[in-house]
Amino acid sequence: MNLFEQIRRRIASPQQTLMETATGTRITYGDMLKRTGRLANILVMRGVEPGDRVAVQIEKSPENLLLYLAVLRAGAVFLPLNTAYTTTELDYFIGDAEPKLVVCDPKKRDGLVEIANKHNVAALETLDANGKGSLIDAAAEAPADFADVPRAPDDLAAILYTSGTTGRSKGAMLSHRNLGSNAEVLVDYWRFTSKDVLLHVLPIYHTHGLFVACNVVMLAGASMLFLPKFDADEAMRLLPRVTTMMGVPTFYTRLLQHPGLTKQATAHMRLFTSGSAPLLAETHREFSEKTGHAILERYGMTETNMNTSNPYDGDRVPGTVGFPLPGVEARIADPDSGKALPQGEIGIIEVKGPNVFAGYWRMPDKTKAEFRPDGFFITGDVAMIDARGYVQIVGRAKDLIITGGFNVYPKEVETEIDALPGVIESAVIGCPHKDFGEGVTAVVVCQKESTLNEKAVLDALNARLAKFKLPKRVIFVDDLPRNNMGKVQKNVLREQHKALYG
Ligand code: AMP
Repeated sequence: MNLFEQIRRRIASPQQTLMETATGTRITYGDMLKRTGRLANILVMRGVEPGDRVAVQIEKSPENLLLYLAVLRAGAVFLPLNTAYTTTELDYFIGDAEPKLVVCDPKKRDGLVEIANKHNVAALETLDANGKGSLIDAAAEAPADFADVPRAPDDLAAILYTSGTTGRSKGAMLSHRNLGSNAEVLVDYWRFTSKDVLLHVLPIYHTHGLFVACNVVMLAGASMLFLPKFDADEAMRLLPRVTTMMGVPTFYTRLLQHPGLTKQATAHMRLFTSGSAPLLAETHREFSEKTGHAILERYGMTETNMNTSNPYDGDRVPGTVGFPLPGVEARIADPDSGKALPQGEIGIIEVKGPNVFAGYWRMPDKTKAEFRPDGFFITGDVAMIDARGYVQIVGRAKDLIITGGFNVYPKEVETEIDALPGVIESAVIGCPHKDFGEGVTAVVVCQKESTLNEKAVLDALNARLAKFKLPKRVIFVDDLPRNNMGKVQKNVLREQHKALYG
């Protein structure tokens, strides 16, 4: 079924609010039906046929979300691009995906004309952060009625390019079934209803903000307060108007620094969720102490949608990402043989289910290499399942450090460092070392008043970790480099410190 049809069936009343902005613009489900109908008609008039890609690189706005829905209605494939991508990067994405239509910010249009022509893009339209542009002008004249294009479960709904910290970015192909099934499961698991109002402060070119947040809200017939980005002051100011919030860990660390975050200010909230990067157990505990809310941490990725979640009822265990979601099979496997490992051992987490993507766009070899013959997808995340069945993510396989022939999981060292008084957080990386291959290196962020130094860290770790796991150097910094989704960019740290050991 077309995911849009699934969404349409959940509309309880056309008067129900779908989204509202901080400045008071309100879009009801009824408005959404009309406006996406107009947009879908324009897509067809510009030559978009079922299966065609529509690439968009635009700021977050309610119209941006409506465009996503219009693309679904037209049976086309939505391809959102990070707003930070440069023209050179866009040249790659447009050349690779061959979209029929490209929608960009008016400021970027001139720079894109040549690229669009080079790759035979049929039409180039604009849409800005305020929801204005040639696309919306054209839609104003178009009819609101549109007959949605039927889609089979395996037809593509979207392509999302992975962040590509190593090698070229790959386009993850997501079907109507992938998106629809996962959102249905999450609505149920997290108990979303039409009474919910979500504080939407995530970007919508990424799986978390677009699929987890928006699809869940829409399949629950719920509402959202739709803001361009996260700002702690504004989030605290608007909190009384919402019931739920989805965030990346940095949102929560910033809220914790806000004097307004109290039990009273959050008493009406139903749920806070976190994902896209590891939530420090410390952050989880501090948030619980301050607010009485246990943040519900879940784990997923662009290719798989959401795989695991802490329970709604029952223990939300800090430092874990909970249980495999209903319908999702997960196992911990040996990275080389792919053989399932006994419970409690550390290996690569592999997943299978209706949530798992159809493969990488025009990369059959890469796709084949990342699936096991029995259909499990090799996530590349190192993980362990504890005795109670909770999954713990230990890190990315490519961040594993091999020093003097020994494997060191950065997370293990980071956990010890983070537990030291005065430490806010740390990132442990491998830097080229002529004797050891890689030297374990700790990059540490301390509280301002802390007097912790390298020797004190090493002395403290000495008693707790095997010698080969001990950092050879400890570097103190004010902040760790992070991308927009709050992920620590270890590749940036490795580059910065590549000459550390000569
Ligand atoms: P992306 O495709 O950008 O969503 O990135 C997916 C990756 O983010 C996963 O493969 C994990 O490495 C990481 N990730 C997502 N959620 C979590 C989490 N709750 N804890 C730790 N890592 C996470």
